Amino acid sequence: MKPAPFSYMRVKSLEEAFDLLEEYGEDARILSGGQSLMPTLNMRLSAPKILIDINQISGLSDIEIKNDKVRVGSLVRHNHLSSSDIVTKHLPLVSKAVPHIAHHAIRNRGTIGGSIAFADPAAELPAVAKAAGFTFIIKNRNEEREVEAEDFFLGLFETSLKETEILIAIEAPKLQQNEKTAFIELSRRQGDYAIIGVAAQSVVENSVFKDIRLAYFGAGDKPVMAKQAIDLLEGQSYSEEVVSEAQKALEADLNPMDDLNGPPEMKMHLARVITARALADLIS
Ligand SMILES: Cc1cc2nc3c(=O)[nH]c(=O)nc-3n(C[C@H](O)[C@H](O)[C@H](O)COP(=O)(O)OP(=O)(O)OC[C@H]3O[C@@H](n4cnc5c(N)ncnc54)[C@H](O)[C@@H]3O)c2cc1C
Repeated sequence: MKPAPFSYMRVKSLEEAFDLLEEYGEDARILSGGQSLMPTLNMRLSAPKILIDINQISGLSDIEIKNDKVRVGSLVRHNHLSSSDIVTKHLPLVSKAVPHIAHHAIRNRGTIGGSIAFADPAAELPAVAKAAGFTFIIKNRNEEREVEAEDFFLGLFETSLKETEILIAIEAPKLQQNEKTAFIELSRRQGDYAIIGVAAQSVVENSVFKDIRLAYFGAGDKPVMAKQAIDLLEGQSYSEEVVSEAQKALEADLNPMDDLNGPPEMKMHLARVITARALADLIS
């Protein structure tokens, strides 16, 4: 299918982008990598009047260290995340997740900002954002605000971004000493969206979990922090019993949807399997 007709503007500054966002309101869409937006236009799931291409705005494509955080511009491509030494060293959960996103051609264009703003519940980076404690830097013409990943994802493809706002960067705390990460995804083929997956991060001292975070994707209408399982694991030493209790607690945490990948019962079974694997990875 072909998209409905639309206008296209390539802007050189945030101010120009804000002008257009204010003029067109809900009829405007930001264009970053286009890897999710263009398919939705071609399938006529969305028919905006104007695309605002922000790719030539400078200052949105850098990865830099800011004290104890890493700041990643919203236009940083998935493959740039893979090749960045800063990301490899300080944000290993991101490094583990990116190879699971689609294929090279898509990772060459797709951006971290687009992935976060699109908020696909089966996507890898929104779950990583919750597990690794990302903060999103969001701007409109007059002000900048910061939103924690925990508060950003509201529902199916729904976020707290407003029509006149642009996500300009992500800030993520650097991995601390004794902090470990695990990322497990099950999909039909390498590069497909997940059937189910988990991004896990925890301080581990003598096999005891501290400040543990388990964020699941493909497990509900948005990335889900498994609060009951987390409460159960916090401060506990790794053992078969503890893993089994955490697996049971997932019943209250996750609500996977029935879709082409299979029924919720199958996904809950897979969630228990990947949870055991992720906890074993964290202590290994
Ligand atoms: C065949 C195929 C397979 C894929 N498989 C996966 C997969 O396995 N996992 C996965 O996570 N993704 C997958 N993707 C999607 C890919 O990762 C996209 O790159 C990503 O979801 C969106 O990034 P983008 O830069 O292309 O955003 P775009 O497509 O440009 O934009 C997506 C949405 O976000 C909005 N937006 C973009 N940037 C901003 C911003 N800075 N501020 C505010 N709003 C913004 C746009 O208006 C649009 O609504 C796949 C895509 C394809 C085509």
